[in-house]
Amino acid sequence: MKTKLLWELSKEDRIGIQLPKRKVPECNLKENIQSSMLRDSDNELPQLSEPQVIRHFIELSTKNHHVDKGFYPLGSCTMKFNPKLNERLAGNPGFINLHPAAPDKLCQGALELMHKLGEAFCKIGGHTAITLQPAAGAQGEFAGLSMIRRYHEHMGNPRKKVVMPDSSHGTNPASIVFSGWQPVEIKSGCDGKIDLKTLEKHLDEDLAAVMITNPNTLGIFESDIKKVAEMLHSVGAQLYMDGANMNALLGIVRPGDLGIDALHFNLHKTFSTPHGGGGPGAGPVSVAEHLAQFLPQPIVSLSDSGEYKLDWDRPDSMGMLQAFWGSFGVMVKAYAYILSLGCDGLRRVSEDAVLNSNYLLSMLRDYYELPYTETPMHEFVLSGEVVKKFGVKTLDIAKRLLDYGFHAPTIYFPLIVHEALMIEPTETESKETLEEFADAMIAIKKEAETDAKLLHDAPLDTPIRRLDEVKANRNPILKWKDSLK
Ligand SMILES: *Cc1c(COP(=O)(O)O)cnc(C)c1O
Repeated sequence: MKTKLLWELSKEDRIGIQLPKRKVPECNLKENIQSSMLRDSDNELPQLSEPQVIRHFIELSTKNHHVDKGFYPLGSCTMKFNPKLNERLAGNPGFINLHPAAPDKLCQGALELMHKLGEAFCKIGGHTAITLQPAAGAQGEFAGLSMIRRYHEHMGNPRKKVVMPDSSHGTNPASIVFSGWQPVEIKSGCDGKIDLKTLEKHLDEDLAAVMITNPNTLGIFESDIKKVAEMLHSVGAQLYMDGANMNALLGIVRPGDLGIDALHFNLHKTFSTPHGGGGPGAGPVSVAEHLAQFLPQPIVSLSDSGEYKLDWDRPDSMGMLQAFWGSFGVMVKAYAYILSLGCDGLRRVSEDAVLNSNYLLSMLRDYYELPYTETPMHEFVLSGEVVKKFGVKTLDIAKRLLDYGFHAPTIYFPLIVHEALMIEPTETESKETLEEFADAMIAIKKEAETDAKLLHDAPLDTPIRRLDEVKANRNPILKWKDSLK
């Protein structure tokens, strides 16, 4: 059935909500509002009843694939279940009605939550200071690198370049450039890990930092990380860790103990807050002691008398990053997640994430190629090269998965794997779901061998078939138009 647009459902004078009778006299708009700000015709909103609106949006939501509807193994992006308890707590009227400019005295509860959340992240990260301001992982990277830049300036030489492995996330080089440095990409070793010999060539007074993801985007733990930290620190350079995805490390390894100087967390990945269309994100950055003075301002501090406050008295701060104090609702959800799991629960998250990933891999590795064979952590990267000889690409596998009711994994990333399929099941999936997904991947492999055309035509069962992705990117239609009818 074709979904009707709200405009098509509209009927004159149908209303969704009945407001109570006004108890104050009607205000004369013309007298009180500048004429240039008044509309001169009706707003033409569709006129609908509440059930119509609810059905419309619920129907739309079922046409899309989302984590509340099905498995979503998007590697690196950690599409884990978003506990509904978190949403309920974030909806607390005391939080949602709080004005961001309220004086500190009147928002002690909110400030306490931010302070305690910051302490929790410091414990997880093995650091002593934190900013909660960044609204995304990418902004966290920018914040962390900017602090490192201030640090080098403070030491008298801002330096010139930042090194990153060729498996790094696309936001890394962008953040390096935005922070005023030249990104230098180095080739990973044949085991998929950072190659110390190659790194060694870049160790000099021009090197500001190395950005590293650990486990890296192949899902492999960088076991030489302490050595990397030592090498960098010996020439005064810093080690930044992209901790967007901490799903393998919680309660097991503290990056600070490995010599990481700055680290960002993605609350909308590891800490279960909704991701993508579901809401804003947050990318707090924890840092080692020597970077603390450069944190964005304000930070939340606790006075000796037990009062929380936004501390602006930070002369070396890199400045403000965000309007107001960051994505507060996201912080409430992440704090709820941390408290509801506790220390043991958080560790269990990582243990189960790694277990799920390895169980899934064990079912798939006979059917798809695993180019880097080191035991992976919370995610692994397969290659679709094996079906190329049948004229089938990774993109076709991804599209066909939709017909089986699964979202595709991340594809064509990391760039160092041909026809990459980057799979992250997360800890919130059951054994049965993992087995069903493996069955689908194996069935698709067989389809590729016998019926390549089917895969080229996929998806067959979705409300919208295969999109022209280039056109959708270049000429997006973001507004309803009569001509689309
Ligand atoms: C998601 C991700 C980022 C960027 O985070 P955003 O919140 O999307 O800006 C950076 N690095 C890695 C490894 C990621 O997975």
